[in-house]
Amino acid sequence: MADFLGCDSIEDLVPKVIDALKTKVSEFNYNNWFRYAQWSLEGEKTIRIQIPNKFVRDWILDNYLEIIKFEFFKLTGKEFEVLFQIIPPSELKQPVFPQIKNQVAPTQAAKKEQLLKLPVGINARYTFDNYVVGNSNQFVFAACQAVANNPAKNYNPLFIYGGVGLGKTHLLNALALEALKKNPSLKIIFVTGEQFTNEVINSIRYDKTYDLRKKYRDNCDILLIDDVQFIAGKERTMEEFFHTFNSLYEDRKQIIVTSDTLPKDILQLEERLRSRFSWGLLADIQIPDFETRCAILRRKAEDDHINMPDDVCQFIAMHVKTNVRDLEGSLIRLSAFASLACIPMTVNVARDVLKNVLGVMAPHLSIEGIQTMVADHYGLKIHDLKSERRHRNLALPRQIAMYLCKKHIKASFPEIGAKFGGKDHTTVIHAVQKIKSAFDQDIGLRSQLEQLENLIQKNS
Ligand code: ADP
Ligand code: MG
Repeated sequence: MADFLGCDSIEDLVPKVIDALKTKVSEFNYNNWFRYAQWSLEGEKTIRIQIPNKFVRDWILDNYLEIIKFEFFKLTGKEFEVLFQIIPPSELKQPVFPQIKNQVAPTQAAKKEQLLKLPVGINARYTFDNYVVGNSNQFVFAACQAVANNPAKNYNPLFIYGGVGLGKTHLLNALALEALKKNPSLKIIFVTGEQFTNEVINSIRYDKTYDLRKKYRDNCDILLIDDVQFIAGKERTMEEFFHTFNSLYEDRKQIIVTSDTLPKDILQLEERLRSRFSWGLLADIQIPDFETRCAILRRKAEDDHINMPDDVCQFIAMHVKTNVRDLEGSLIRLSAFASLACIPMTVNVARDVLKNVLGVMAPHLSIEGIQTMVADHYGLKIHDLKSERRHRNLALPRQIAMYLCKKHIKASFPEIGAKFGGKDHTTVIHAVQKIKSAFDQDIGLRSQLEQLENLIQKNS
């Protein structure tokens, strides 16, 4: 058939394209994405591919559509249109793997549960019981338990600090739930620093400061403020919080706050609040070690009925070292992926899925890599970025480099400081916050950052 160059008949075309496809994508990927695909020609320039679900369709569209079209073009000299049709796995000819016990339902249930929050704004899913304890958090865990059992006795205020996704909000909820379990009549207020700020703004705007004070000072046994660093730099909010704090403290009511850093490292926080935060107990949460990461994954998999082989658990725990939220996210993504694509959860699948999500496995993206990139971009030497010199031509690129390291490598502040000529972690915190806040105001800086971020994307 002249129209189908190199093919005897139209029926020959599809197997030839499939053969070509197999040489272009790895066997592993072919099996993942095409083993259940059913191809058929519609007319002379359209191909229909039947696949088991939307997820597989989107993946093929994003990753393989161009290859498929190109192969058809090579064989026929025609631009083919590719149509996808989702049909239930039961109607596909080949048997489909049994679905891994599916976590879509629990996730939806969890969402619902979040909507049905307890009256005080507490999420009932975060309990002490499902908080996994290891070296990185046993101190703070014990402190929270002690406070829940005996509010306003020993540790007041309790100041919990640690990086994002390490379980601060979880612990606050667990503490409140436990305290309520012990004494259901306790009046508990649970707000984020941001909500508190909004309440202060609204109380000023609508002339309701009296109500606000009544609520926080007279009607509260335990006050929990999550991410209190948010109020820094907001004068009226800090003022209101200061008086709330004093009033509750004098009345022997319990105050618990969380923050991403120590009080002394929260920029633009009033000195008098800084000192009050340090009156009670300061407890930090660190990144969990490998064994704890495995235990957290196991616990999470059990709770969500995910059937996770040991080697997969260890693989995730080994590679996802940033925080617990990323750990959970990786597990959920991987199991959703396996379930939707009807493939078993294996280390190979994990490698393929997670590399696209986190970038944590991109071996060439490192602090040194970012330093080189930034130094090249500004025509500086790496030595300049590590030096102590404060000239603006050096200081800004240095701060940008620190910011990019925090954002893309997710290294800790001290780790970044060490690699920038042994600088203190507060210097890094300051740099990161400065670039973050300049980002919105300084168009020139924003465009420089965008260029650098593009370079990073290309290199990761
Ligand atoms: P943060 O408030 O510090 O940013 P979260 O409390 O929101 O972190 O925790 C992020 C996710 O990780 C939550 O789903 C939480 O349940 C989970 N998590 C964190 N630490 C643990 C832990 N030790 N055990 C079990 N789950 C944890
Ligand atoms: Mg939080």
